[in-house]
Amino acid sequence: ICILGLGNAAEPEYVKYKDPKQPAAARVKDLITRMTLQEKIGQMIQLDRTMATSQIMKDDSIGSVLSGGGSTPLPQARAEDWVNMINDFQKASLSSRLGIPMIYGIDAVHGHNNVYNATIFPHNIGLGATRQMQKDPALVKKIGAATALEVRATGIPYTFAPCIAVCRDPRWGRCYESYSEDPKIVQDMTEIILGLQGDIPSNYRKGLPYVGGKDKVAACAKHFVGDGGTTKGINENNTVIDMHGLLSIHMPAYSDSIVKGVSTIMVSYSSWNGEKMHANPELVTGFLKDTLKFKGFVISDWEGIDRITSPPHANYTYSVQAGIQAGIDMVMLPFNHTEFIDDLTYLVKNNVTSMDRIDDAVGRILLVKFTMGLFEDPMADYSLVNELGSQAHRDIAREAVRKSLVLLKNGENQTNPILPLPKKAPKILVAGTHADNLGYQCGGWTINWQGFHGNNSTRGTTILGAIKSAVDPSTEIIYRENPDGDFVKSNKFDYAIVVVGEAPYAESAGDSLTLTMLDPGPNVINNVCKAVKCVVIIVSGRPLVIEPYVSSIGALVAAWLPGTEGQGITDVLFGDYGFSGELPRTWFKSVDQLPMNVGDPHYDPLFPFGFGLKTESVPSIVARSTSNSVDARPYLLFIMVSLIFSFYFTGVSFATTQYAKILLLPQDLDESSEEFKYYVRAYVLYLIGVAVVPTKDPEAAQIPNKDGNFPKGVAGSLFVLQCFIAEYIPSIASMLTSGGTLPMRLPL
Ligand code: BGC
Repeated sequence: ICILGLGNAAEPEYVKYKDPKQPAAARVKDLITRMTLQEKIGQMIQLDRTMATSQIMKDDSIGSVLSGGGSTPLPQARAEDWVNMINDFQKASLSSRLGIPMIYGIDAVHGHNNVYNATIFPHNIGLGATRQMQKDPALVKKIGAATALEVRATGIPYTFAPCIAVCRDPRWGRCYESYSEDPKIVQDMTEIILGLQGDIPSNYRKGLPYVGGKDKVAACAKHFVGDGGTTKGINENNTVIDMHGLLSIHMPAYSDSIVKGVSTIMVSYSSWNGEKMHANPELVTGFLKDTLKFKGFVISDWEGIDRITSPPHANYTYSVQAGIQAGIDMVMLPFNHTEFIDDLTYLVKNNVTSMDRIDDAVGRILLVKFTMGLFEDPMADYSLVNELGSQAHRDIAREAVRKSLVLLKNGENQTNPILPLPKKAPKILVAGTHADNLGYQCGGWTINWQGFHGNNSTRGTTILGAIKSAVDPSTEIIYRENPDGDFVKSNKFDYAIVVVGEAPYAESAGDSLTLTMLDPGPNVINNVCKAVKCVVIIVSGRPLVIEPYVSSIGALVAAWLPGTEGQGITDVLFGDYGFSGELPRTWFKSVDQLPMNVGDPHYDPLFPFGFGLKTESVPSIVARSTSNSVDARPYLLFIMVSLIFSFYFTGVSFATTQYAKILLLPQDLDESSEEFKYYVRAYVLYLIGVAVVPTKDPEAAQIPNKDGNFPKGVAGSLFVLQCFIAEYIPSIASMLTSGGTLPMRLPL
């Protein structure tokens, strides 16, 4: 029934464009011949959901609807509410004369960031720090695939991502949406398109759009081209660069995106050498469509056509003509869509805009819709609803956070490294504006266009929350957003974790000439780091002014805008994993140096592009030390025997106390220090003592203290026992049966 139009009841007419067996190009051609000019113009329009109604969708044959950053999203809505809303629009579109489905788009730029409970991945700058293309290209693709599933879970088949801007000046408010200042890294990261849209089949023709199924989404490479190169990083401004510079820095990632089958490309608000990109036929049509052979559709930015003139919308008929003539196929949010329809109709009827240009635009839009199966399966359903914010996706995000962290300093000259931190310490301080603020951690484009402040707008783990769940239960955590110096001094903290950075922003609101951290960030660093050993974590979308504080800071970590999975940070802080990230951009000393990018003459950064100290994870240190090891069996025998004795004499609760003490002792100590050697000697003496003279007196069976008092008792055997149980339970069984080794590092 689907492919047979009801021309007349007796002889149903064969409708080619409805036949899924036909190639997409043939279907496009057939459908275009059936369309009126008004229907074609309708397909070229993308309306914000707050402006679209079922009536408008149907009557004007509107091609697309979006939830734009600037409009009000449905943050608290459940996936079902999204699906229902989108299906209402879709039903209206399908009821239009030719039944052409609309395509719904949204900015899912670091996960499905518009929706409550979605997994929020690190913003692009953090992904650029992972250097995953060299290490593990699968991660980037996994992020794309997870995002696609979550976006589809709410019934949406199209995201305006990835942003492949090459940000050359961190004063730009969108710098965090850029993977790197280095074109090669940005190019590599277009791998995310394969995750979002699916892997292109091997014989796929270059330039054709591709979306591999209902668990994938159409992607959009943006903003074409040179958006990251504007003077002083001013958003939507002018990029002054010659053609050679444009082609070497800003263009390569577009070529890669097209090879990877990107379905759509968004034009930049910015100008190139004074010419608005939205009115640039040489680059949009000549270069992108003709030279790079892009066959998907080109979409304008939000009111991008209106902004061809200054002030915006000053001469709309002209803007429509210039934009469509430049090669824009779909117009995001015409200021007033009926005005757009009237103007474009007028332009076509008067042969100013050719029908060929209209057919090219509509053909590209329809090609994407056919390719992604929208005609066959236009309605959204709830089948993927459990994908939204799933544990599997949170695990991927957590992995990405771990790999995105860049360690900029770790103790003085790397001697006495501060990181990794011990999980067990009597009392630690967590401080700073960003320690317990999920909104700050996620940054702009999260729930709201400009991001949110606080913890209630979506689900996730703050850094403070992650610290609480990572440390030993015996560790006391004191949290103060802005502690004063006296408070810090009067408490005996073992160490402090200070989390500071930027408040969220998006687009022009984030442009900054000063790049300072949010107050009282600098104050917190001063009050805390001058009094106690401290680790400072910077949560920001770009490098900030940090040079004046670096000398007082013990260890310094750039965490970028990590998203909802704060545990990725503690995974690395406490040594379950090592630091591996590398700066995706140059960290300047002072803003007067900007712009400054790697390769520039007079390059004099605080931390150069690519910098990042590495640490080993604690498990790998242990694994390494076991290679230098001894046969375990005699010790295990000793443990078994002492187990029986010690529990007989002292009871379980006493044993546990001793265990807690012994694990605490050596952790903070440098192995070469006298103190550490003291404890080692103490244990050995003590063990000999307890082995010789057992006692039933718990008082006598204490940990030795520094006064040289080594009471005798059975508890010594407990030390050994408890250490082994805690550290080696998983391997004890196999060691008992097959033999095995123990690390020499234990104070045995
Ligand atoms: C931004 C785009 C975004 C669009 C839709 C514009 O303001 O520049 O990146 O895709 O809004 O929200």
